Amino acid sequence: MGAKLGVGLGMVVLGVMLAGCGGSDGQQEPVKPTESTTAAPQPSAPVPITHSEAPYQFGDVQAKAPPIVDGRAPVIRRIPTDKPYVFITIDDGEIKDPNALSLITQSGFRPTMFLAQKFVAGEAAYFRDIRDQTGADIEDHTVNHPNLRGKPYAFQRKEICDDADAEAAEFGRRPVLFRPPYGNWDTNTQKAAADCGMRAVVLWTAAVNNGVVQFQEGDHLKAGDIVLMHFRTTFVQDYTAFVERARRDGLTAVPLPDFLG
Ligand SMILES: [Zn+2]
Repeated sequence: MGAKLGVGLGMVVLGVMLAGCGGSDGQQEPVKPTESTTAAPQPSAPVPITHSEAPYQFGDVQAKAPPIVDGRAPVIRRIPTDKPYVFITIDDGEIKDPNALSLITQSGFRPTMFLAQKFVAGEAAYFRDIRDQTGADIEDHTVNHPNLRGKPYAFQRKEICDDADAEAAEFGRRPVLFRPPYGNWDTNTQKAAADCGMRAVVLWTAAVNNGVVQFQEGDHLKAGDIVLMHFRTTFVQDYTAFVERARRDGLTAVPLPDFLG
């Protein structure tokens, strides 16, 4: 964790670019450089997969999450895959844009929604409709959206477990993935997440803000990227920008839980 402070200036700039949830309080974690694994072969003329031809049976686990070690849930920044898959995550739930359902449906993509209870309570139907009609899934993002880093274990556990319990009651499925608000976490976050039944603490490698896709490195999305956006007033611009970028890069957005089974 503390090692993040030691990253170079370039990465600090990058961390600011890839602003996390909220984005206004300056609590953002610089994105760590990705190990340069063998690049997936880039087809010269990518052919996007449309929703009428799912690349595999969605819901079938394609890869397992790394194991929980010493009671700590693993921290995931990207998904190792040689397939043309990308992962779109939509956080918080503050602004309920009525166009989201049709946009997601038209895209054929399968977002993961990391929802905080403070934005969901009393308005679960909005997210349930999206889940039921698009196959998007709903995961854990705390109850009150606090910065967890440095907070006591009991505080973190309550935020994570209570959101999981509430979502189980609201949506009929207990979440298994956790995203820490602002991307801020520490070892207590990993322990609390594991103790609340989470398989992984999920960060991101690219973000969409104000209709612009911002990359961790380079100028395009890569297979395995996890992309962050939010339920904001700019939902239509943001989601549209992501879909266009993914199609241009020959990638289709598939369910994140299928790769963290
Ligand atoms: Zn958030």
